[in-house]
Amino acid sequence: MSNGLKGIKTIRDFELAGKTVFLRLDLNVPLENGKITDETRITASLPTIKYALEKGAKLVIASHLGRPKSSKDKQFSMEPVATRLGELLNYEVVLMDEPSSDGVKHFLYAPMKNQIICLENLRFDEGEVENKTELAQQWASYTDIYINDAFGASHRAHASIHAFPEVMQKKGIGFLIEKEIKMLDGLFDKPKKPYIAVLGGAKVSDKIPVIEKLIDIVDGFIIGGAMAYTFLKAQNISVGKSLVETDKLKYAKEMIERIEARGKTLLLPVDHVTTKSFGDTENIKITLNSTIDDDMMALDIGPQSIKNFRACLEKASTIFWNGPMGVFENPAFSKGTFAVAEVMANNPGLKIVGGGDSAAAAEASGFANKMTHISTGGGASLEYLQGEKLPGLEILRPKKQSEVVD
Ligand code: AMP
Repeated sequence: MSNGLKGIKTIRDFELAGKTVFLRLDLNVPLENGKITDETRITASLPTIKYALEKGAKLVIASHLGRPKSSKDKQFSMEPVATRLGELLNYEVVLMDEPSSDGVKHFLYAPMKNQIICLENLRFDEGEVENKTELAQQWASYTDIYINDAFGASHRAHASIHAFPEVMQKKGIGFLIEKEIKMLDGLFDKPKKPYIAVLGGAKVSDKIPVIEKLIDIVDGFIIGGAMAYTFLKAQNISVGKSLVETDKLKYAKEMIERIEARGKTLLLPVDHVTTKSFGDTENIKITLNSTIDDDMMALDIGPQSIKNFRACLEKASTIFWNGPMGVFENPAFSKGTFAVAEVMANNPGLKIVGGGDSAAAAEASGFANKMTHISTGGGASLEYLQGEKLPGLEILRPKKQSEVVD
């Protein structure tokens, strides 16, 4: 496991009054026709923003949004985000078109009360993804304290995540990253038993490093979603047209043996909601293992599988969930995923949901607020759980004792 938050300062460790604080946030929200469709990332960032404002900081907020090709990609403008932030904070959020221009400096000389700056999409400048020091130095020319609260972006060595804190002396994290890391560390640091990992989603290959990391820690795995079909097929169970990663069959077979050799639980689906193709809701059939017809594909776990998974999860004291049990985006194939969310919601133990699709699934189930924690970072949380070092965190650790500042 990584060193957690060892040596890393938090925003609480700095005197903020009158200081310019550069807050790198993950405000990469989904947009449709210029409208924000899910503002979770904005609301998750509010505690740190509000704290900095209460302490009298002059705030510069910055984030990336989507994957613009150039600054002309105006559909990736931060404008809707700045507007929404302004409403939530009751502040005027001034959007700076040229994040690296002197305009920011001029503004900071005498900001009006109830005004903060939001920089335009960091990725409008290619120096961001190229981790360019020049860009970092421009930001550093007006920043007193750098705070990273962009957990979802901390696995990327981009300028606002890596090059910038590298040139800053006063640097730390905000409340969101602090909570994310503490929660994820809780999955490894003496978790209460029984501890069950529920894995699903599209691909086995994406989840292999997490399985490897968890195999000696958990008491069992529940595997659903498309990845279950590679595990079933590895046991010579016919799965029709369901998604199978043929190059991972050997791994799946060995994995089953390793789990069994350790005396741990492995629950795979025993029945399935099958149909002819992805969008097809006309030909739905509940099918038991080994009886999926050649022209049918499984898009959700069946009712008996739900019962089995539920019974196991009801007894668990720690649950980590990553990946839906079926194509939950379509209501016809969402029962398995929502049943997992429900049993987790009713379990009084520690329940952590990995980011990305699992967070969206928890949200869609209506049980999101009953989870102990839902990670806001998909890729970042998986990389952290796999034991990889996040560049955005590592750069905040003091290299030598002499670098430690107040
Ligand atoms: P991941 O990002 O790996 O967690 O995968 C999430 C995606 O897996 C979702 O969009 C689901 O629709 C999809 N998925 C889950 N179960 C199945 C299945 N049985 N067949 C095909 N896709 C699935």
